[in-house]
Amino acid sequence: MNFPTPASPLKGIANVRLPAWLLPAGWPVHKGEPVTADLRFDAGKIASVMPCQPEQDDLWDAHGALALPGLTEPHAHLDKTFTIGRSRPSKPGLLAAIETMHQDRQHWTPADLHQRARRGMAWAAANGVTRLRTHIDWFDDTPPLAWTALATITQPGVTLERVALAPLSFFADADVADRIARAVALSGNHYLLGGFIHSSNWDPTAMTHLMRSASRWQLNLDLHIDEELSPVAHGLSWLAHYLSENPFSGHICCSHGCALASGSEQQAQEVLSVLAAQRVTLIALPMTNLLLQDAVTHRTPRQRGITLLKEAQTAGIPVLLGCDNVQDAFCPAGSYDPLDTLACALFALQLDNVFDQQSRLICDVAALTGEAQPGLPLASGSEASLVLFPGSDSLTWPLNSAARLVFHHGRLTHQRTWNQELSHES
Ligand SMILES: [Zn+2]
Repeated sequence: MNFPTPASPLKGIANVRLPAWLLPAGWPVHKGEPVTADLRFDAGKIASVMPCQPEQDDLWDAHGALALPGLTEPHAHLDKTFTIGRSRPSKPGLLAAIETMHQDRQHWTPADLHQRARRGMAWAAANGVTRLRTHIDWFDDTPPLAWTALATITQPGVTLERVALAPLSFFADADVADRIARAVALSGNHYLLGGFIHSSNWDPTAMTHLMRSASRWQLNLDLHIDEELSPVAHGLSWLAHYLSENPFSGHICCSHGCALASGSEQQAQEVLSVLAAQRVTLIALPMTNLLLQDAVTHRTPRQRGITLLKEAQTAGIPVLLGCDNVQDAFCPAGSYDPLDTLACALFALQLDNVFDQQSRLICDVAALTGEAQPGLPLASGSEASLVLFPGSDSLTWPLNSAARLVFHHGRLTHQRTWNQELSHES
């Protein structure tokens, strides 16, 4: 395959294999797979998407390579990332990781935060991520250093969102809750209010204050909620009950929701039906859940700790997959590659039809923001931003698919090449 040159914008890409979920109804199918597409660009936007035709000589030929719109990383922690080398927890599990993170904070200068967060953003961009949401820990009711330091970080082609991650106990006092929400609302662009909601800090009054202060300051929410295996974790069931009685004008993402998988089927269905009706998005974090839930030294974990993703999809709840922590006390590994997250979910959640259907879990911006989109990604008029996977195919993907061509506004911005194996057998 001859690659396009980064300097010049393309007129379009011919012969590209898009997933079935991305294609309009009635798209032709050959041998059970959607036929490849010709994408034409105009001024950095998609001008047309048509079934592939021969002899489109002005377009760059992708030779049937798989492609997706720009990828979404809906849940990261850029303030903590890349600290595992200096801060490794002595015990397994979530609460020990939180303790280690507090010890590591002594190193969090503006230079340290910038260097680590920039590295994470650069990795994500090279992998094809165009939207990255990071949670940032708050330690009292005023914005922490990382909140302002990370606001100034830019990476071409990537929109960065910040979520203020405060423990639920900070919202116990209504005035403090309001101060936090106000500070978030006056934070410039792309911000949300968050919270860490867990059996260890459960407080329904604080939850009410959190919801009311978010409403008052017109904030969207992204909550770390029920990141545990307790069948009686209160967060999601309380939230479902609250939303069924109180209107909330913003959009809500619920991250983790592990405990949904521990309770009864009936309990889960009641919660999921309310979340579906309220258009709440569920974000599953399979890698950190597998690592941190049911984690005991020298014992093989029995429980997977991942939320009820399939049941949520069946209920019509928008669902996304995120990486969560990367190379820190919570998760020693990680790559900022949504394909790695999806590959993990493929096995942990036994996903089917991964490229044609489940690839949506790593590029659905509408699910993240809750904002209605004018059409499907890569529809005519949308940004000509996409990721190609040369050398892969719909059965291999997302495994063995590290090679990438990333396009923004019709121009090649990142390229990781893939070389055909050379046999040395004689
Ligand atoms: Zn998280």
